[in-house]
Amino acid sequence: MIIEVEGIVLSESPYGETSKIINILSKEKGLIGIMCKGAKSMKSSLRASTQILTYGIFSIYYKEGKLSTLKNVDVKNMWKEIHSDLTKISFATYLCELISQVVKQTDEDVFDFLLQSLIKIENGLDPLIITNVLELKCLPLLGVGLNLDECIRCGNKTQIVTIDASYGGLICKNCYQNEPILDKKIIQLIRMYYYVDIASINKINVDDKYKKIIDKFITDYYESFTGLYLQSKKFIENLL
Ligand SMILES: [Zn+2]
Repeated sequence: MIIEVEGIVLSESPYGETSKIINILSKEKGLIGIMCKGAKSMKSSLRASTQILTYGIFSIYYKEGKLSTLKNVDVKNMWKEIHSDLTKISFATYLCELISQVVKQTDEDVFDFLLQSLIKIENGLDPLIITNVLELKCLPLLGVGLNLDECIRCGNKTQIVTIDASYGGLICKNCYQNEPILDKKIIQLIRMYYYVDIASINKINVDDKYKKIIDKFITDYYESFTGLYLQSKKFIENLL
């Protein structure tokens, strides 16, 4: 059966001399593995359109639960800006790795999260902030959403003094032991990132010192609570 799906290439790997196998996240059917015959060959028109990040309409011979076969791709966006910048491409690659892990653990639709994030990075918004927003939005889908309304230890809604990744949330004055005190502004920004609709972000200015602390909070939280090991995030940390 030939079907058309709207998708984004999350990963590609060579197969034999001239072919490759790609994984796409599709809007209609989630993750799909696709055999792309001849797509590694220099002459193939499928060579570029099957590379990681490509967003398009994929015509495939669809086999549920098995490897499908690619017929054609109608490319909607190759992400020219992202591909021209090492930092942007690194973040975008990481987002693909993150989403391929998340999609295995949820039935929720994550396609738009990824697409909107790529659009924002392509349009020049800060890739670190967009990445952090997407990371926060994935937490509830991984079953470890943040509670940003009350103290994680006693439920107190007032007198919050800090937020701590290893304890998983806000800490009030009464429960405070010796966790690092983070600026109130950090807590406000994390809340904003957590609840914002990615598509609605048009500009964002966050002080560099806050950005780094927020990124570290999220990375630590992922390490403590999600059980995911994300290799390309480590690579990005060396770029920043
Ligand atoms: Zn408390």
